[in-house]
Amino acid sequence: MQVLKFGGTSVGSANRMKEVFQIITSDNHQKIVVLSAVSGTTNSLLAFAQMLASGQIQEATAHIDNLETKYHHLVDELYSDIQIITTAQNFIREKFDHLREFVEKPFDTAQEKQIVAQGELISTQLFTWYLHQQGQEAILLPALDFMRIDKSSEPDEYYMKSMLEKELLLAGSSPIYITQGYICRNAYGEVDNLKRGGSDYTATLVGQAILADEIQIWTDIDGMHNNDPRIVDHTYPVKNLSYDEAAELAYFGAKILHPSCVLPAQKANIPVRLKNTMDPQAEGTMISDRKADGEITAVAAKDGIVAIKIKSGRMLNAYGFLKKIFEIFEKYQTPVDMVTTSEVAVSLTIDDTTNLSKILLDLRQFGQVEVDQDLSIICLVGNFTSDQRGYAMKIFSAFEEVPIRMISYGGSKYNVSVLVHSQYKKSGVAINQPGSIRSGINISFPPKVKNTVWL
Ligand code: ADP
Ligand code: ASP
Ligand code: MG
Repeated sequence: MQVLKFGGTSVGSANRMKEVFQIITSDNHQKIVVLSAVSGTTNSLLAFAQMLASGQIQEATAHIDNLETKYHHLVDELYSDIQIITTAQNFIREKFDHLREFVEKPFDTAQEKQIVAQGELISTQLFTWYLHQQGQEAILLPALDFMRIDKSSEPDEYYMKSMLEKELLLAGSSPIYITQGYICRNAYGEVDNLKRGGSDYTATLVGQAILADEIQIWTDIDGMHNNDPRIVDHTYPVKNLSYDEAAELAYFGAKILHPSCVLPAQKANIPVRLKNTMDPQAEGTMISDRKADGEITAVAAKDGIVAIKIKSGRMLNAYGFLKKIFEIFEKYQTPVDMVTTSEVAVSLTIDDTTNLSKILLDLRQFGQVEVDQDLSIICLVGNFTSDQRGYAMKIFSAFEEVPIRMISYGGSKYNVSVLVHSQYKKSGVAINQPGSIRSGINISFPPKVKNTVWL
């Protein structure tokens, strides 16, 4: 069985949904199809929730009415069968009546999760009816019955595997199953989600649960590019990536993949193919245990990074110091991304600043603490094996014009991370563009960067 995930743009209109139908029926593989909400819907539902939170009742009502109208148009364009059109229009009315009920209720975050879940619930139902209209056998599997996160918001793999097996048995055999990306239940049984872009994660978790032959992530671009196409010109797709390389890129900002979605596929050794819905013939990217060729294969950048430096004479020749420091981050459940140490200081980075002030307070007992904000981690992924010479020099040279705050080299053989102030991100990420370090011609070649806003 295969798992195919289609993102928001891929199901963004009636025509796009029809193209997805062509793609999923073009071969005889049995498949679970994971769908995102129609593009723009999740943002729109979050905006609606935000309006409710701030008491803008009239705006919220107008906003949700407007979104409903778009869906009635979508239904008219998607189907030709009058009976299905009537059923689908009634379904949309019911869904939006349900959303309007939230206007009357006191707002809380649990409600926001219920509101935002409607996007995927709607897209999957509409698409399943389209398949039926086309005479295609397909069964809708409710993700809320088998996708679950635990108390630490981590996927409950054991639960998901056993529940999905049960669901599939109960549903009976079908060439195609459809399910919702992104949404799940939490440890208390409430509706929750896997965070923005979470449909990729659903796909790999489902793939892991059923030990799929292959997972395909269909989106609006022909695979993982060597650089972020939103900020750098002339990027190109990378044909092969190892799980480790892809995981680093996803975690450090390559939006094409949810930050955590590579791990479930890697654990089960299932190949992940990234494909373009708008150009299905394009080769895309294959993520497997085979690594990419070349020096710097791809670059990604993560913004909103905060660096913390703890300086203390007590570190000299002492043991247990780092442990105490890291225990503080553990206490406040704050992941640390980069670390560098000297004999008297340790610098580290975080991107979750929810508990920053408490962390700083606790750290002060160990020495002087300095905080630096508005930083970006530039993550260089490639082949940095220790027997190769000259990489550090090349990287430093390529960043000649950019002040480097921290550099992490040697932690793994496929990743080098460089911390810079966000204002230097644009020039930093273009390091692997042709003419730059990759070709070895001109390391400090001025990068051609779009005049777009930063990520
Ligand atoms: P979907 O809605 O299908 O999940 P996303 O918008 O989440 O699609 O992800 C696809 C987008 O990721 C692309 O349109 C592209 O702008 C962006 N992106 C950022 N970095 C990269 C990269 N290195 N390679 C390809 N796409 C990238
Ligand atoms: N619809 C969700 C979002 O916009 C999940 C996804 O698209 O992957 O974040
Ligand atoms: Mg996405």
